[in-house]
Amino acid sequence: MITLNNVSKIYRTGDIETRALKDINLTIDRGEFIVILGPSGSGKSTLLNVISGLDSVTSGRITFKGHELTELSGEELVEFRRDHLGFIFQQYNLLQVLTVFENIQLGSDLCRRPLDIDELLEKVGLSNARNKYPHQLSGGEQQRVSVARSLAKNPDVIFCDEPTGALDEKNSKQILEILQELNTEYQTTVVVITHNLGIAEMADKVIKMNSGEITEIITNKTKKAAR
Ligand code: ADP
Ligand code: ADP
Repeated sequence: MITLNNVSKIYRTGDIETRALKDINLTIDRGEFIVILGPSGSGKSTLLNVISGLDSVTSGRITFKGHELTELSGEELVEFRRDHLGFIFQQYNLLQVLTVFENIQLGSDLCRRPLDIDELLEKVGLSNARNKYPHQLSGGEQQRVSVARSLAKNPDVIFCDEPTGALDEKNSKQILEILQELNTEYQTTVVVITHNLGIAEMADKVIKMNSGEITEIITNKTKKAAR
């Protein structure tokens, strides 16, 4: 579904050049659960940003369902991101003046094939928090709202940058289980940057990065076989 061919990204800040991605080749299939591991500064966020069209590549090609991302106009890119991609970050980014339901609804506004919000609330175990405001919820609950929000538009891919970074073990586990369930049930492709080895164990594929390069791709055969 997603293919990267010889993708490189160089940041230029004044005279300083940083080669954040060096000649990356990668294929991501529909329904895969992918984890990206690597030390700080190894290019994980940059990889996520170029795949999701948030940042441009310096050279190389990225195709998404047959479309060449690098050839889309700014407006087409916005539309593409809106219709096909979901995002979850370490910060929950919920709007404090809106209820849980309204926050999730915001995620599906303007999109072509939204999922039922009450069904999503049930999936993430928050049916009875429907009319509460974010400040009335725990961190784990808020992150579950942002998971539901990212899924509300039924995206092809959900990109997660350290989704459990601010959570304790119990809440992290809950978020992981939800992501795994959504991945299986909706065949949503999930791409996660994490230091959490628990997430890595659930992955179909673990991509290890170092200094802007993919150093290893580990395919979890037992998980594939279990499907
Ligand atoms: P981490 O992966 O450790 O959470 P980040 O991905 O946020 O950290 O950043 C990794 C490195 O990239 C840091 O050294 C940070 O200073 C640098 N960095 C991130 N964003 C920018 C930026 N907009 N301009 C310059 N450097 C940046
Ligand atoms: P990671 O997510 O693995 O921590 P990043 O992708 O954030 O790594 O960063 C990779 C490299 O690119 C780092 O050396 C970082 O300092 C640099 N970098 C990231 N974003 C920027 C930016 N906007 N401007 C300049 N350098 C950046």
